[in-house]
Amino acid sequence: MITRLETTDVLVIGGGLAGERCAIEAAAAGQEAMILSLVPPRRSHSCAAQGGMQAALANCAKAEGDSPTVHFLDTVRGSDWGADQEVANIFADEAPVAVRELAHFGVPWSRVKGGKNHYFIKGAAVDIDEALENDGLIGQRDFGGTAKWRACYAAAGTGHAALYAVDSEVVRLGITVRDRTEAVSLIHDGGRCLGAVVRCLRTGTHFAVMAKATVIATGGYGRIYGQYTSNATINEGTGAAIALDTGIVPLGNMEAVQFHPTTLAPSGILVTEGCRGDGGYLLDKNMHRFMVDAEPAKQELASRDVVSRHMQQTMRDGNGVDSPYGPHLWLDIRHLGEEHLRTKLLEVWDICRDFAGINPVNDLVPVRPTQHYSMGGVRVNKDGQSYGLSGLFAVGEAACWDMHGFNRLGGNSLAETLVSGRLVGRRVAEYASGISLRADTGFAFDAIAAAEQRARAWLSRTGKGPSIYDIRDAMGETMMHKVGIFRTGDELSEAVNELQALLDDCDNAVLRCRDPGVNPELAFALRLKGMLRLAMTVALGAQARTESRGAHFRTDYPLRNDEQWLNRTLVRWAADQSEPTFSYEPTGLIDLPPGHRGYGSDERIEMKASLDSYNNSVLAEQTGHGRLESAEAMGSRLRRGAWKTVAQ
Ligand SMILES: Cc1cc2nc3c(=O)[nH]c(=O)nc-3n(C[C@H](O)[C@H](O)[C@H](O)COP(=O)(O)OP(=O)(O)OC[C@H]3O[C@@H](n4cnc5c(N)ncnc54)[C@H](O)[C@@H]3O)c2cc1C
Repeated sequence: MITRLETTDVLVIGGGLAGERCAIEAAAAGQEAMILSLVPPRRSHSCAAQGGMQAALANCAKAEGDSPTVHFLDTVRGSDWGADQEVANIFADEAPVAVRELAHFGVPWSRVKGGKNHYFIKGAAVDIDEALENDGLIGQRDFGGTAKWRACYAAAGTGHAALYAVDSEVVRLGITVRDRTEAVSLIHDGGRCLGAVVRCLRTGTHFAVMAKATVIATGGYGRIYGQYTSNATINEGTGAAIALDTGIVPLGNMEAVQFHPTTLAPSGILVTEGCRGDGGYLLDKNMHRFMVDAEPAKQELASRDVVSRHMQQTMRDGNGVDSPYGPHLWLDIRHLGEEHLRTKLLEVWDICRDFAGINPVNDLVPVRPTQHYSMGGVRVNKDGQSYGLSGLFAVGEAACWDMHGFNRLGGNSLAETLVSGRLVGRRVAEYASGISLRADTGFAFDAIAAAEQRARAWLSRTGKGPSIYDIRDAMGETMMHKVGIFRTGDELSEAVNELQALLDDCDNAVLRCRDPGVNPELAFALRLKGMLRLAMTVALGAQARTESRGAHFRTDYPLRNDEQWLNRTLVRWAADQSEPTFSYEPTGLIDLPPGHRGYGSDERIEMKASLDSYNNSVLAEQTGHGRLESAEAMGSRLRRGAWKTVAQ
């Protein structure tokens, strides 16, 4: 067999918004960039994003007084103080640039209409005069957990519009894109990443791409929840899995998994938060607006973790609507009217018609919470460089950068992909321009041989072993029902045992199709163990974290515990080790002291240490955990105390 070896300056694994924006920046700085993707980039999951992208533009009446500082406050509160506050600061400062840049790339943002506008706020109709001088500016809608209307949107197809525009830039710059090509392992020498072994999904051939810098931009790991996710089938967490396999690069906060309140029941297709932002509300089987009782101030627009828990509890209490596919609740958007639904929420209208056979102008929409977003991922410093391996970067949903902490606010992910894509792309280019590609190709040949051996082992196994699809489905059931919205120590122990049994089954599973080339069963089999290992890090991380923070809710430890758990989980697990190793680092420099989020419970265990002593330990502790030095000093972009001028 001929072993193929290619080279490039910057290898970007993933052609979604984050990977493409990163590649554009590196290419614009003169680096040769190559993008790998499982699918043509425009089919990446970013395309499915619906409701909006947060940026403090303050263009409409209900956004008056907004600023990056208010956005920072909302983001840190939304994260339940799990975020790195400097990163949240960088993000909020740069999000307006990212939105305006997209307009320049061609995104048809929905715009402010000067004069009288008819809105719905908390379910009630309101007329608001938009300033005539703001007519035609980028419009903004309300979203959960924010103090101001901040989500910029292109109807309910924001991701579609953004990805097509960004991909057109990739084409314009002539960046090499290899679709249907999967990175299956990282090549490294123990200290530096040298590229990746990739597998062509058309032919089954393995080859190596050696690069000065490698970027993981593979999106989230929602598919470890099987059918219980709003994510596409390609969101299998392969990037996080190959980083974990190194045993050197840690993943951060894997137990921080978001459940979105409103996905269509039973298909799990997302119905955007923009519906509630635009004035839609939730009803139980008695047509009662339970969120008004549960969260009088924010109602349906509390953060996603809070709303999902209230919905789940409402169904547990027997107030869900029975259906052959289990209970659900109702989303009522009928009052918004046909014109609104067929313009600003057009994609929702389409989804309701095509996937539920209903017309939301006349019908209630059946919804329930489902896994939606991965806050955890490849742990990186503020430049996007991974812990442990120089030359390896991560960006977008695949990364734990970490501006979301334990709960991401709606609209903050699209903005993150573009802000961090640009920022990390610049750092990647700087890194790549400062080094040569000179490296021992033996590491690449060994890695190719190992990958080929893994594929051969699957193809040659015979007998009566379990099906990989049964293992996948069992993993999803375990994750949703035992590592879901409400978690308990007992159920998490059961989940760990069940996942271990599935990992063992994986070694005996047998394929039905033995074609070495175009063979989706083999392609999935090669990912399955990695997915189970990720699932295990989520379950074990959740079991160890004996508190409740953001989306991680332990009914046996219902309080946020800032005394013991104001930290980030790190997990390392080399491919040849039987179990992972966990450690914990400080979340980052804290400027906004831990407090009440403004929604959800105000009960918590306070930290006893002073902020100064906490902050003094951050640099040394994170460095001890493998954090590599960033281009600018830690804390240089934290606008200390700025929040005091706007805090409400
Ligand atoms: C239905 C839905 C609606 C959403 N709506 C919003 C919204 O309104 N606002 C918001 O802010 N966020 C939203 N989100 C979240 C947001 O869309 C995503 O977090 C974001 O788009 C992720 O972008 P990404 O570039 O990191 O990853 P993705 O867009 O998922 O791209 C991952 C890329 O990696 C490639 N890939 C994966 N594994 C490999 C491999 N091993 N080798 C090679 N390539 C690989 C894939 O082919 C793909 O190109 C939504 C999410 C969902 C699921």
